[in-house]
Amino acid sequence: MPRESKRAKRERGVEVCRRMGELYPDVESALSFDGPFTLVICVLLSAQTTDVAVNKVTPELFRRWPTPQAMAAAEVLEVEDVIHSLGFYHTKARHCVECAQAIIASFGGEVPGTMEELVTLPGVGRKTANIVLNKAFGVVDGIAVDTHVYRIASRLRLVDAPTPAQAEPQLLDVLPRELWGPVNEQWIHFGRETCTSQRPKCDACALVDLCPSAFKANGKPNARPRRRSS
Ligand code: SF4
Repeated sequence: MPRESKRAKRERGVEVCRRMGELYPDVESALSFDGPFTLVICVLLSAQTTDVAVNKVTPELFRRWPTPQAMAAAEVLEVEDVIHSLGFYHTKARHCVECAQAIIASFGGEVPGTMEELVTLPGVGRKTANIVLNKAFGVVDGIAVDTHVYRIASRLRLVDAPTPAQAEPQLLDVLPRELWGPVNEQWIHFGRETCTSQRPKCDACALVDLCPSAFKANGKPNARPRRRSS
C-alpha cells in the first residue's frame, strides 16, 4: 500500500466509524451496574473476561459489599472466594478492596469524575477510566483501547503501536473527537463477530474496501500484509 497522507487516513477513519455506526447503532455494554462505584468494580473485574462472566459474580459481590465503605473493610480472601471464577481473581480482589479504600481516603467516598483522578485509583488505567467517565458521567475524554479495538485499529492501519495504551493517542489523533464515544463498544462487537483474533471474516466484512489487511491478517494484532516475493 502506498504511503497514506494523514488527511486520507483521517477520512478513512471517519468512514470506518460511520459504517460501525450503521452496523451497531444501539450497542450497549452488558455489564450490570447501578452507579459509579459498582461500574468501577465491574470494569476492574472485566479485564481478560466477558461481561457475562462478570455479571455472574457481581450480584453476590454487591450484596455483601455494595458501597466503597463496605468494600474497603472487606477481607481480600473473602472477595476472592466470591470472584474466583474470573481470571486473575487474586489481583482483581486486591484491587477491589484497595480501590474502595482509595475512594474513601482521597475522594470522600465518591468516585471521582476526571481522568486525572480516576487513574490514581489502584487497578484503574486509562482504559477503565475512559469507560467509567463515559458511562457513569457522560464524559468522553478518550477511547478505551482494549484488545479488540487495538487489533482492529492495527489491522486497519489507523495506528501503528506496540501496545494498546500506546495506540490510544494515535487513534485519538486520527478520529474526530465527536466520534470517540461509541468506538469501544461498537468495535468490541465487530471484533467478536467479524474481525476476530484468529481467522478474521474478511469475506463478510463491511470494511473490506477500507482495510489494508483484508485477506492478509494472520491473527497477530499488528499483522501486516506479507510482501510478495519477486
Ligand atoms: S477486512 Fe478483515 S482484517 Fe480488515 S477489518 Fe475486515 S475482518 Fe478485519
